[in-house]
Amino acid sequence: MKRIAILGSTGSIGIQTLEVAREHRNDIQIRALVAHSNIELLERQIREFMPRIVCVYDDKKAKLLKENIKDLSVRVETGMEGIIACATEESTDTVVAALVGMIGILPTIEAIKAGKNIALANKETLVTAGHIIMPLSREKNIELLPVDSEHSAIFQSLHGEDKNNIYRILLTASGGPFRGLKGQVLETMTASDALKHPNWRMGPKITIDSATLVNKALEVMEAVWLFGLPIEQIQVLIHPQSIIHSMVEYVDGSIIAQLGLPDMRLPIQYALFYPDRKDMRLGERVDFVKLKELTFEEPDMDTFYGLQLGLRAGKLGGSMPTVYNAANEWAVARFLEGKIGFLDIPRLIEEAMDNHILINAPTLNQILNTEQETYDFIKGIVKFGK
Ligand code: NDP
Ligand code: MG
Repeated sequence: MKRIAILGSTGSIGIQTLEVAREHRNDIQIRALVAHSNIELLERQIREFMPRIVCVYDDKKAKLLKENIKDLSVRVETGMEGIIACATEESTDTVVAALVGMIGILPTIEAIKAGKNIALANKETLVTAGHIIMPLSREKNIELLPVDSEHSAIFQSLHGEDKNNIYRILLTASGGPFRGLKGQVLETMTASDALKHPNWRMGPKITIDSATLVNKALEVMEAVWLFGLPIEQIQVLIHPQSIIHSMVEYVDGSIIAQLGLPDMRLPIQYALFYPDRKDMRLGERVDFVKLKELTFEEPDMDTFYGLQLGLRAGKLGGSMPTVYNAANEWAVARFLEGKIGFLDIPRLIEEAMDNHILINAPTLNQILNTEQETYDFIKGIVKFGK
Protein backbone atom coordinates (compact mmCIF):
# COMPACT_ATOMS: atom_id res chain seq x y z
CA MET A 1 0.00 0.00 0.00
CA LYS A 2 1.33 3.44 -1.00
CA ARG A 3 0.37 6.36 1.21
CA ILE A 4 0.82 9.56 -0.69
CA ALA A 5 0.70 13.34 -0.41
CA ILE A 6 0.02 15.35 -3.56
CA LEU A 7 1.43 18.87 -3.63
CA GLY A 8 -0.62 20.55 -6.37
CA SER A 9 -3.58 18.16 -6.46
CA THR A 10 -5.81 20.57 -8.40
CA GLY A 11 -3.32 20.98 -11.26
CA SER A 12 -2.77 18.95 -14.39
CA ILE A 13 -0.33 16.47 -12.79
CA GLY A 14 -2.28 16.39 -9.51
CA ILE A 15 -5.57 15.56 -11.22
CA GLN A 16 -3.95 12.81 -13.28
CA THR A 17 -2.27 11.40 -10.16
CA LEU A 18 -5.71 11.11 -8.58
CA GLU A 19 -6.99 9.35 -11.71
CA VAL A 20 -4.23 6.78 -11.26
CA ALA A 21 -5.09 6.52 -7.54
CA ARG A 22 -8.77 5.98 -8.39
CA GLU A 23 -7.82 3.07 -10.66
CA HIS A 24 -5.66 1.53 -7.94
CA ARG A 25 -7.77 2.11 -4.84
CA ASN A 26 -6.49 -1.02 -3.16
CA ASP A 27 -2.87 0.01 -3.58
CA ILE A 28 -2.88 3.79 -3.05
CA GLN A 29 -4.20 5.86 -0.16
CA ILE A 30 -4.29 9.65 -0.35
CA ARG A 31 -3.15 11.18 2.95
CA ALA A 32 -2.51 14.85 2.09
CA LEU A 33 -3.51 17.31 -0.64
CA VAL A 34 -2.23 20.81 -1.42
CA ALA A 35 -3.67 23.53 -3.66
CA HIS A 36 -3.26 27.26 -4.08
CA SER A 37 -6.86 28.48 -4.21
CA ASN A 38 -9.13 26.14 -6.20
CA ILE A 39 -11.19 25.05 -3.20
CA GLU A 40 -14.17 23.85 -5.26
CA LEU A 41 -12.14 21.11 -6.92
CA LEU A 42 -10.15 20.46 -3.75
CA GLU A 43 -13.36 19.87 -1.80
CA ARG A 44 -14.53 17.29 -4.34
CA GLN A 45 -11.13 15.58 -4.09
CA ILE A 46 -11.32 15.62 -0.28
CA ARG A 47 -14.79 14.08 -0.24
CA GLU A 48 -13.72 11.35 -2.65
CA PHE A 49 -10.28 10.46 -1.23
CA MET A 50 -10.61 11.49 2.43
CA PRO A 51 -7.07 12.69 3.20
CA ARG A 52 -6.05 13.44 6.79
CA ILE A 53 -4.72 16.91 6.07
CA VAL A 54 -4.98 19.49 3.28
CA CYS A 55 -3.41 22.86 2.65
CA VAL A 56 -4.84 25.81 0.75
CA TYR A 57 -2.03 28.32 0.30
CA ASP A 58 -4.42 31.27 0.08
CA ASP A 59 -5.44 32.11 3.62
CA LYS A 60 -8.97 33.40 2.84
CA LYS A 61 -9.77 30.38 0.69
CA ALA A 62 -8.44 28.08 3.41
CA LYS A 63 -10.94 29.59 5.88
CA LEU A 64 -13.78 29.16 3.40
CA LEU A 65 -12.87 25.54 2.79
CA LYS A 66 -12.68 24.87 6.53
CA GLU A 67 -16.26 26.11 6.81
CA ASN A 68 -17.42 24.08 3.80
CA ILE A 69 -16.02 20.79 5.10
CA LYS A 70 -16.75 21.17 8.80
CA ASP A 71 -18.73 17.94 8.63
CA LEU A 72 -15.43 16.08 7.99
CA SER A 73 -12.49 15.50 10.31
CA VAL A 74 -9.88 16.77 7.85
CA ARG A 75 -7.23 19.22 9.07
CA VAL A 76 -7.07 22.38 6.91
CA GLU A 77 -3.80 24.31 6.92
CA THR A 78 -2.54 27.32 4.98
CA GLY A 79 0.62 29.06 3.71
CA MET A 80 4.08 27.56 3.31
CA GLU A 81 3.87 26.01 6.78
CA GLY A 82 0.73 24.21 5.69
CA ILE A 83 2.36 22.91 2.52
CA ILE A 84 5.28 21.61 4.56
CA ALA A 85 2.92 19.98 7.07
CA CYS A 86 1.35 18.09 4.15
CA ALA A 87 4.72 17.23 2.63
CA THR A 88 5.93 15.75 5.91
CA GLU A 89 2.66 14.18 7.16
CA GLU A 90 3.84 11.25 9.24
CA SER A 91 1.72 8.51 7.69
CA THR A 92 2.84 9.12 4.08
CA ASP A 93 5.68 7.33 2.34
CA THR A 94 5.66 9.19 -1.00
CA VAL A 95 5.20 12.84 -1.92
CA VAL A 96 4.12 13.75 -5.43
CA ALA A 97 5.83 17.11 -5.99
CA ALA A 98 3.54 18.76 -8.54
CA LEU A 99 3.43 22.41 -7.54
CA VAL A 100 4.38 24.73 -10.36
CA GLY A 101 7.48 26.89 -10.00
CA MET A 102 10.13 27.55 -7.37
CA ILE A 103 7.55 27.46 -4.58
CA GLY A 104 8.15 23.69 -4.74
CA ILE A 105 11.76 23.84 -3.47
CA LEU A 106 11.21 24.16 0.27
CA PRO A 107 8.45 21.54 0.67
CA THR A 108 10.44 19.05 -1.43
CA ILE A 109 13.53 19.56 0.74
CA GLU A 110 11.47 19.17 3.93
CA ALA A 111 9.82 16.01 2.59
CA ILE A 112 13.22 14.49 1.82
CA LYS A 113 14.50 15.44 5.27
CA ALA A 114 11.47 13.63 6.71
CA GLY A 115 12.49 10.50 4.75
CA LYS A 116 9.72 10.58 2.13
CA ASN A 117 10.21 9.19 -1.35
CA ILE A 118 9.60 11.82 -4.01
CA ALA A 119 7.74 11.44 -7.30
CA LEU A 120 9.07 14.58 -8.91
CA ALA A 121 7.11 16.55 -11.51
CA ASN A 122 8.22 20.01 -10.33
CA LYS A 123 11.36 20.41 -12.47
CA GLU A 124 12.03 23.98 -11.26
CA THR A 125 13.09 22.46 -7.94
CA LEU A 126 15.97 20.43 -9.39
CA VAL A 127 16.96 23.13 -11.88
CA THR A 128 17.56 25.65 -9.12
CA ALA A 129 18.50 23.47 -6.14
CA GLY A 130 19.73 20.19 -7.65
CA HIS A 131 23.09 20.55 -5.90
CA ILE A 132 21.26 20.57 -2.55
CA ILE A 133 18.55 18.02 -3.32
CA MET A 134 20.63 15.25 -4.88
CA PRO A 135 23.16 14.85 -2.01
CA LEU A 136 20.33 15.17 0.53
CA SER A 137 18.38 12.38 -1.22
CA ARG A 138 21.44 10.12 -1.06
CA GLU A 139 22.06 11.00 2.59
CA LYS A 140 18.45 10.25 3.50
CA ASN A 141 18.43 7.16 1.28
CA ILE A 142 15.14 8.07 -0.37
CA GLU A 143 13.97 7.37 -3.92
CA LEU A 144 13.73 10.43 -6.16
CA LEU A 145 11.67 9.20 -9.09
CA PRO A 146 11.06 11.28 -12.20
CA VAL A 147 7.50 12.01 -13.31
CA ASP A 148 8.49 14.21 -16.24
CA SER A 149 7.90 11.95 -19.26
CA GLU A 150 11.37 12.42 -20.79
CA HIS A 151 13.11 11.66 -17.51
CA SER A 152 10.90 8.68 -16.86
CA ALA A 153 11.87 7.43 -20.34
CA ILE A 154 15.59 7.94 -19.67
CA PHE A 155 15.26 6.30 -16.25
CA GLN A 156 13.56 3.28 -17.82
CA SER A 157 16.18 3.12 -20.60
CA LEU A 158 19.00 3.03 -18.03
CA HIS A 159 17.89 -0.04 -16.10
CA GLY A 160 20.60 -2.65 -15.72
CA GLU A 161 23.17 -0.56 -17.61
CA ASP A 162 26.51 0.83 -16.48
CA LYS A 163 26.41 4.64 -16.49
CA ASN A 164 29.99 4.69 -17.77
CA ASN A 165 28.76 3.12 -21.00
CA ILE A 166 26.42 5.98 -21.87
CA TYR A 167 27.44 7.79 -25.03
CA ARG A 168 24.67 10.38 -24.89
CA ILE A 169 21.09 11.02 -23.92
CA LEU A 170 18.68 12.01 -26.67
CA LEU A 171 16.05 14.13 -24.95
CA THR A 172 13.05 14.50 -27.22
CA ALA A 173 10.80 17.55 -27.60
CA SER A 174 7.60 17.95 -29.59
CA GLY A 175 8.70 21.42 -30.71
CA GLY A 176 5.48 22.94 -29.38
CA PRO A 177 2.73 24.80 -31.27
CA PHE A 178 5.14 27.20 -33.03
CA ARG A 179 7.56 24.64 -34.50
CA GLY A 180 8.71 25.81 -37.92
CA LEU A 181 7.73 29.46 -37.40
CA LYS A 182 10.27 32.29 -37.51
CA GLY A 183 10.92 35.59 -35.69
CA GLN A 184 8.45 38.10 -37.14
CA VAL A 185 5.42 35.81 -36.93
CA LEU A 186 6.28 34.79 -33.39
CA GLU A 187 6.25 38.42 -32.27
CA THR A 188 2.47 38.47 -32.88
CA MET A 189 1.60 35.25 -31.04
CA THR A 190 -0.70 35.58 -28.04
CA ALA A 191 -1.15 33.43 -24.94
CA SER A 192 -4.16 31.69 -26.47
CA ASP A 193 -2.07 30.73 -29.54
CA ALA A 194 0.73 29.45 -27.34
CA LEU A 195 -1.67 27.47 -25.13
CA LYS A 196 -2.65 25.22 -28.06
CA HIS A 197 -0.10 22.47 -27.56
CA PRO A 198 -0.28 19.85 -30.33
CA ASN A 199 0.22 16.73 -28.16
CA TRP A 200 -0.01 17.36 -24.43
CA ARG A 201 -2.66 18.97 -22.19
CA MET A 202 -0.77 20.54 -19.32
CA GLY A 203 -0.92 23.49 -16.94
CA PRO A 204 -0.54 26.97 -18.48
CA LYS A 205 3.03 27.68 -17.34
CA ILE A 206 4.59 24.52 -18.76
CA THR A 207 2.53 24.89 -21.94
CA ILE A 208 4.08 28.31 -22.57
CA ASP A 209 7.49 26.85 -21.66
CA SER A 210 6.90 24.22 -24.34
CA ALA A 211 6.14 26.92 -26.92
CA THR A 212 9.36 28.84 -26.12
CA LEU A 213 11.39 25.59 -25.71
CA VAL A 214 12.40 26.90 -22.28
CA ASN A 215 10.81 23.71 -20.97
CA LYS A 216 13.42 21.70 -22.85
CA ALA A 217 16.30 23.66 -21.35
CA LEU A 218 14.81 23.11 -17.89
CA GLU A 219 14.57 19.41 -18.71
CA VAL A 220 18.21 19.23 -19.80
CA MET A 221 19.23 20.75 -16.45
CA GLU A 222 16.85 18.38 -14.65
CA ALA A 223 18.48 15.42 -16.45
CA VAL A 224 21.98 16.59 -15.50
CA TRP A 225 21.01 16.31 -11.83
CA LEU A 226 18.91 13.17 -12.01
CA PHE A 227 21.38 11.13 -14.04
CA GLY A 228 24.68 12.75 -13.04
CA LEU A 229 25.88 13.45 -16.58
CA PRO A 230 27.64 16.48 -18.02
CA ILE A 231 25.32 18.78 -19.97
CA GLU A 232 27.36 18.17 -23.15
CA GLN A 233 26.22 14.54 -23.14
CA ILE A 234 22.56 15.52 -23.45
CA GLN A 235 21.22 16.35 -26.89
CA VAL A 236 17.81 17.83 -27.59
CA LEU A 237 16.01 16.26 -30.52
CA ILE A 238 12.72 17.48 -31.96
CA HIS A 239 10.25 14.62 -32.42
CA PRO A 240 6.85 16.12 -33.29
CA GLN A 241 4.76 12.98 -32.65
CA SER A 242 5.81 12.68 -28.96
CA ILE A 243 5.83 8.88 -29.08
CA ILE A 244 9.49 8.32 -28.20
CA HIS A 245 9.74 10.02 -24.82
CA SER A 246 13.58 10.01 -24.85
CA MET A 247 16.45 7.62 -25.54
CA VAL A 248 19.84 6.58 -24.21
CA GLU A 249 22.60 5.87 -26.70
CA TYR A 250 25.40 3.62 -25.45
CA VAL A 251 29.07 3.52 -26.46
CA ASP A 252 28.52 0.55 -28.78
CA GLY A 253 25.91 2.50 -30.78
CA SER A 254 22.89 0.72 -29.29
CA ILE A 255 20.00 3.02 -28.50
CA ILE A 256 17.37 2.18 -25.88
CA ALA A 257 14.17 4.20 -25.94
CA GLN A 258 10.86 4.26 -24.11
CA LEU A 259 7.73 4.73 -26.20
CA GLY A 260 4.08 5.37 -25.44
CA LEU A 261 1.25 7.68 -26.34
CA PRO A 262 1.59 11.16 -24.84
CA ASP A 263 -0.28 10.55 -21.57
CA MET A 264 1.24 11.65 -18.27
CA ARG A 265 -0.68 8.99 -16.35
CA LEU A 266 1.88 6.44 -17.51
CA PRO A 267 5.02 8.12 -16.05
CA ILE A 268 3.00 9.10 -12.93
CA GLN A 269 1.91 5.50 -12.37
CA TYR A 270 5.41 4.22 -13.07
CA ALA A 271 6.91 6.56 -10.46
CA LEU A 272 4.28 5.57 -7.89
CA PHE A 273 4.76 1.83 -8.25
CA TYR A 274 8.44 1.59 -9.21
CA PRO A 275 10.02 -0.96 -9.53
CA ASP A 276 6.70 -2.74 -10.11
CA ARG A 277 4.59 -2.28 -13.25
CA LYS A 278 0.82 -2.20 -12.93
CA ASP A 279 -1.91 -2.63 -15.45
CA MET A 280 -2.72 0.64 -17.26
CA ARG A 281 -6.45 0.66 -17.78
CA LEU A 282 -6.70 4.34 -18.71
CA GLY A 283 -6.22 5.81 -22.17
CA GLU A 284 -5.17 4.09 -25.38
CA ARG A 285 -2.13 2.10 -26.43
CA VAL A 286 0.35 2.66 -29.24
CA ASP A 287 -0.79 1.25 -32.57
CA PHE A 288 2.26 1.36 -34.86
CA VAL A 289 0.22 0.76 -37.99
CA LYS A 290 -1.91 3.83 -37.28
CA LEU A 291 1.18 5.90 -36.40
CA LYS A 292 2.81 5.40 -39.80
CA GLU A 293 5.82 7.64 -39.13
CA LEU A 294 8.09 8.97 -36.43
CA THR A 295 10.12 11.99 -37.53
CA PHE A 296 13.02 13.96 -36.09
CA GLU A 297 14.59 17.40 -36.53
CA GLU A 298 17.23 19.56 -34.97
CA PRO A 299 15.87 22.29 -32.68
CA ASP A 300 15.89 25.80 -34.16
CA MET A 301 18.01 27.41 -31.45
CA ASP A 302 18.16 30.79 -33.20
CA THR A 303 14.40 31.29 -33.30
CA PHE A 304 13.74 29.62 -29.95
CA TYR A 305 16.74 31.09 -28.24
CA GLY A 306 15.22 30.55 -24.80
CA LEU A 307 16.60 27.04 -25.26
CA GLN A 308 20.06 28.36 -26.10
CA LEU A 309 19.99 30.64 -23.04
CA GLY A 310 18.96 27.74 -20.83
CA LEU A 311 21.83 25.58 -22.03
CA ARG A 312 24.16 28.51 -21.31
CA ALA A 313 22.68 28.86 -17.80
CA GLY A 314 23.08 25.12 -17.27
CA LYS A 315 26.75 25.22 -18.32
CA LEU A 316 27.47 28.18 -16.06
CA GLY A 317 25.70 26.46 -13.16
CA GLY A 318 25.67 27.93 -9.63
CA SER A 319 22.95 30.54 -9.30
CA MET A 320 22.51 31.11 -13.06
CA PRO A 321 19.81 28.44 -13.54
CA THR A 322 17.86 30.19 -10.77
CA VAL A 323 18.07 33.50 -12.63
CA TYR A 324 17.05 31.80 -15.87
CA ASN A 325 14.14 30.07 -14.17
CA ALA A 326 12.94 33.03 -12.10
CA ALA A 327 13.11 35.42 -15.07
CA ASN A 328 11.14 32.89 -17.08
CA GLU A 329 8.51 32.39 -14.35
CA TRP A 330 7.99 36.14 -14.13
CA ALA A 331 7.89 36.66 -17.90
CA VAL A 332 5.52 33.73 -18.52
CA ALA A 333 3.09 35.05 -15.90
CA ARG A 334 3.06 38.47 -17.61
CA PHE A 335 2.73 36.88 -21.05
CA LEU A 336 -0.29 34.89 -19.82
CA GLU A 337 -1.79 38.19 -18.62
CA GLY A 338 -1.25 39.64 -22.10
CA LYS A 339 1.17 42.28 -20.77
CA ILE A 340 4.27 41.32 -22.75
CA GLY A 341 4.90 39.67 -26.12
CA PHE A 342 6.06 36.13 -26.82
CA LEU A 343 9.60 37.14 -27.77
CA ASP A 344 9.89 39.32 -24.68
CA ILE A 345 10.18 36.10 -22.67
CA PRO A 346 13.70 35.16 -23.89
CA ARG A 347 14.64 38.84 -24.10
CA LEU A 348 13.93 39.38 -20.41
CA ILE A 349 15.64 36.15 -19.44
CA GLU A 350 18.76 37.24 -21.31
CA GLU A 351 18.81 40.66 -19.68
CA ALA A 352 18.42 39.13 -16.23
CA MET A 353 21.23 36.64 -16.90
CA ASP A 354 23.54 39.36 -18.23
CA ASN A 355 22.92 41.44 -15.12
CA HIS A 356 23.63 38.65 -12.64
CA ILE A 357 26.89 38.05 -10.81
CA LEU A 358 27.25 34.29 -10.48
CA ILE A 359 27.26 32.61 -7.08
CA ASN A 360 28.81 29.15 -7.07
CA ALA A 361 27.01 26.41 -5.11
CA PRO A 362 24.42 28.83 -3.66
CA THR A 363 22.78 28.00 -0.34
CA LEU A 364 19.00 27.72 -0.17
CA ASN A 365 18.81 31.29 1.13
CA GLN A 366 21.00 32.53 -1.71
CA ILE A 367 18.76 30.73 -4.21
CA LEU A 368 15.64 32.34 -2.77
CA ASN A 369 17.35 35.75 -2.63
CA THR A 370 18.51 35.37 -6.24
CA GLU A 371 14.92 34.57 -7.22
CA GLN A 372 13.68 37.77 -5.55
CA GLU A 373 16.52 39.88 -6.97
CA THR A 374 15.72 38.61 -10.45
CA TYR A 375 12.05 39.60 -10.08
CA ASP A 376 13.08 43.03 -8.78
CA PHE A 377 15.55 43.54 -11.62
CA ILE A 378 13.01 42.69 -14.32
CA LYS A 379 10.30 44.82 -12.73
CA GLY A 380 12.80 47.68 -12.91
CA ILE A 381 13.49 47.32 -16.64
CA VAL A 382 10.20 46.23 -18.14
CA LYS A 383 7.82 48.78 -19.62
CA PHE A 384 4.24 47.63 -20.07
CA GLY A 385 1.92 48.79 -22.84
CA LYS A 386 3.37 47.72 -26.18
P1 NDP B 1 -0.75 23.38 -12.98
O1 NDP B 1 -0.65 24.85 -13.14
O2 NDP B 1 -1.78 22.65 -13.77
O3 NDP B 1 -0.98 23.02 -11.44
C1 NDP B 1 -0.24 23.62 -10.42
C2 NDP B 1 -0.73 23.12 -9.07
O4 NDP B 1 0.03 23.75 -8.05
C3 NDP B 1 -2.20 23.46 -8.78
O5 NDP B 1 -2.73 22.45 -7.96
C4 NDP B 1 -2.09 24.77 -8.01
O6 NDP B 1 -3.22 25.04 -7.19
C5 NDP B 1 -0.87 24.46 -7.18
N1 NDP B 1 -0.16 25.65 -6.72
C6 NDP B 1 0.42 26.62 -7.47
N2 NDP B 1 0.98 27.55 -6.68
C7 NDP B 1 0.78 27.16 -5.41
C8 NDP B 1 1.07 27.69 -4.14
N3 NDP B 1 1.71 28.86 -3.99
N4 NDP B 1 0.71 26.99 -3.04
C9 NDP B 1 0.03 25.83 -3.15
N5 NDP B 1 -0.30 25.28 -4.33
C10 NDP B 1 0.06 25.93 -5.43
O7 NDP B 1 0.71 22.80 -13.27
P2 NDP B 1 1.10 21.37 -13.90
O8 NDP B 1 0.39 20.28 -13.18
O9 NDP B 1 1.04 21.44 -15.36
O10 NDP B 1 2.65 21.32 -13.54
C11 NDP B 1 3.13 21.05 -12.22
C12 NDP B 1 4.63 20.81 -12.30
O11 NDP B 1 4.86 19.61 -13.04
C13 NDP B 1 5.40 21.91 -13.04
O12 NDP B 1 6.65 22.07 -12.45
C14 NDP B 1 5.58 21.35 -14.45
O13 NDP B 1 6.73 21.83 -15.09
C15 NDP B 1 5.71 19.86 -14.16
N6 NDP B 1 5.30 18.99 -15.26
C16 NDP B 1 4.02 19.02 -15.74
C17 NDP B 1 3.61 18.22 -16.78
C18 NDP B 1 2.20 18.20 -17.24
O14 NDP B 1 1.87 17.38 -18.12
N7 NDP B 1 1.33 19.04 -16.75
C19 NDP B 1 4.59 17.33 -17.46
C20 NDP B 1 5.89 17.34 -16.85
C21 NDP B 1 6.23 18.14 -15.80
P3 NDP B 1 -4.55 25.83 -7.78
O15 NDP B 1 -5.18 24.89 -8.76
O16 NDP B 1 -5.38 26.07 -6.59
O17 NDP B 1 -4.03 27.08 -8.43
MG1 MG C 1 8.58 16.82 -20.08
